[in-house]
Amino acid sequence: MEYKTTVAIVRTADYEGLDAAVAEALSLIGADRYIAPDDTVLFKPNLLMRIRNACTEADFLAAVARFIRPLNANLKAGDSPGQFRHRAASVMRGVGMDAVLEAEKIAYAEFESGGVLVENPKARHMKRFHIAKPVVEADCIVNLCRPKSHIEAAYTGAVKNYWGIIPGGEKARCHLHGRNPAEFGHVLADNYEAFLAQGKKRIVVMDARKLMEGPGGPANGFMRPVGLVLAGYDEAAVDMVMLAIGRIDGVRAVPHLAACRERGLGVTDMDEIEIKGLSIETVQLKRKAGITSTTTASLLNNFIARTVIYKYMRRMPVLKKKETCVMCGDCFNICPNRAIVWEKQQTPVFEKEKCVSCLCCVECCPQQALEASPAGLSGFFLKYPEITPPHPEQTT
Ligand code: SF4
Ligand code: SF4
Repeated sequence: MEYKTTVAIVRTADYEGLDAAVAEALSLIGADRYIAPDDTVLFKPNLLMRIRNACTEADFLAAVARFIRPLNANLKAGDSPGQFRHRAASVMRGVGMDAVLEAEKIAYAEFESGGVLVENPKARHMKRFHIAKPVVEADCIVNLCRPKSHIEAAYTGAVKNYWGIIPGGEKARCHLHGRNPAEFGHVLADNYEAFLAQGKKRIVVMDARKLMEGPGGPANGFMRPVGLVLAGYDEAAVDMVMLAIGRIDGVRAVPHLAACRERGLGVTDMDEIEIKGLSIETVQLKRKAGITSTTTASLLNNFIARTVIYKYMRRMPVLKKKETCVMCGDCFNICPNRAIVWEKQQTPVFEKEKCVSCLCCVECCPQQALEASPAGLSGFFLKYPEITPPHPEQTT
């Protein structure tokens, strides 16, 4: 059978020799010839919360940036954690990534201020949603993922890392499409399919120095030393190889990889993946990787997330300082879901039923007239928002 993609496997000590391992892995797949000097290169780390093990580590971003910088000086980095308290810049500060951005001259890319509407009639669930602008504008995406167990998706690695391209609070709404693990697998595949349709250059560099295991993943699992760096061009292939190293058949164990196989997204057939560097057999773990099973725990988690946490915790805009509003319409223009009614010489009115809690309006208001308030108990009486096309009068 002919190979469709390549994945490199390289050993590294925990924190020493990381630069050399990253350079070797990227050289093995020929990344130095793949990146053009005038490309806009966007690093997409996995930023979840201000916990080091829950995120791509700052030194890993630094090591990859040091390899790419001589090839290309136009580097950016961003993500959308999509949670309520800590947004990307805050999470970056919490895990020391802000210092790396400064030291390696990487520009911060804002993922959470609105996005570009994408439509995918072939999608199972997410036929219309937004992708963060920096992703749409970049030429090459460098996916900096790490392997972790995941209470809802069983495993998160390269494919699931693109969940962060959905801006801010809209991700919470998109989550609602997946009512069980199999459905959520197709939701993640919908997102991956829409990303692939953007036609970007893609590089995946997986920080497999450690694997997060157990039901606490993806935030608070147990860290198991693995001592590897993986690199490739196909996200599904990198995930399949990582799971094979953990003695797991990704298509059987992970719903979103099963959905990718069913829909022909990425490379999920191990026979079609060329391995460079070390062989899987050489580095295979002695004990099977402890990723989460998608059974009772995930169903319960999903039910609670849908019925309680999202409705109660979601934050919505409120015109707190009406007297300072200059009726400029900036909030109306940026709203991705037509949730604001505004006419010239009038203050905006918010339609809560349509609000996707992205809070773009709050951020863009030049007068700081808007504030974000938790929906609280009133959230239980709101329907889940549907995605609507842009308003014909919107100017952005
Ligand atoms: S952006 Fe702010 S100042 Fe402008 S209309 Fe909206 S609330 Fe008023
Ligand atoms: S009204 Fe809601 S959906 Fe519209 S920009 Fe504000 S937070 Fe986002």
